[in-house]
Amino acid sequence: MSTARAFVVGWPVKHSRSPLIHRHWLKRHGIDGGYCAEAVPPEDAESFFRSFGDRGYCGGNVTLPHKEAAFRACQMLTPVAERLGAANTLWLEGATLHGDNTDAYGFAANLDDNVKDWRGGATALVLGAGGAARAVLFALMEAGYKSIALLNRSPERATALASHFGAPVDPGGLDAVADALPGADIIINTTSAGLHGDAGIPIDWRAARPGVIVTDLVYVPLVTPFLGAAAEHGLTIVDGLGMLLHQAVPGFERWFGVRPEVDAELRAVVVADLAE
Ligand code: NAP
Repeated sequence: MSTARAFVVGWPVKHSRSPLIHRHWLKRHGIDGGYCAEAVPPEDAESFFRSFGDRGYCGGNVTLPHKEAAFRACQMLTPVAERLGAANTLWLEGATLHGDNTDAYGFAANLDDNVKDWRGGATALVLGAGGAARAVLFALMEAGYKSIALLNRSPERATALASHFGAPVDPGGLDAVADALPGADIIINTTSAGLHGDAGIPIDWRAARPGVIVTDLVYVPLVTPFLGAAAEHGLTIVDGLGMLLHQAVPGFERWFGVRPEVDAELRAVVVADLAE
């Protein structure tokens, strides 16, 4: 039986739902391990990554703003972490620090759970060009999307990200949304606009194809104004909480040796916490 201990490290970290998710799974599987939140300021991140093994940890999750610092600290990276330039899941093999990025996996697994044929689309519209958009672009390209409009409030950030990913990604500003919307099979909000119920990015959903899939990475509230408006137009919506739950699976399996399930019970635990 595993008595391993893992962490989530961030600055700040108290908003993180990772302890809730992993402790739920530890209890569910009767594992005598531990999972702690570590608040570490940016100037101490590098030394934390070098020394967490000495403090009894076998690995952990990394949240904002440390995902790039974690990437730099790793001696071994999975191909996806290498491609995204950020690590959110760490583990030690002997003295060697390994890093993975499970955000793209979490994004795709959430859609797999909710919309069986989402991988059949060809054209995507991605709003936002921050860290989360990188994972989404990776997942869309893996799923076979051939044309991806990447639109951001600051168009130069979209251009920089598009040059990292190459041909399928076509960058622009938010003023191009009206042109990109009618051709899209899937539309993803990766911006933090809409967080805590702010109005978000205004979209004229009447121009969207019937049956188009609309998803939002923001999950507070669960149904953001972006998703709510899309649902009113009869479109298929998927909230962002499933991405958070699924991205946690590979780390738990590495640290504690059991592949956990994302199920209705776990979702209800986190939804109840979000409501508080
Ligand atoms: P980030 O790197 O800071 O990027 C933020 C993005 O939002 C940028 O594209 C920014 O545009 C845009 N933005 C912010 N406010 C805006 C506004 N009022 N109008 C239009 N665009 C706006 O953040 P991130 O790491 O990509 O995360 C983005 C969101 O995804 C966060 O809310 C985060 O919590 C969520 N997220 C969820 C999951 C999940 O598991 N569901 C995983 C990762 C992230 P500019 O470049 O113009 O500033």
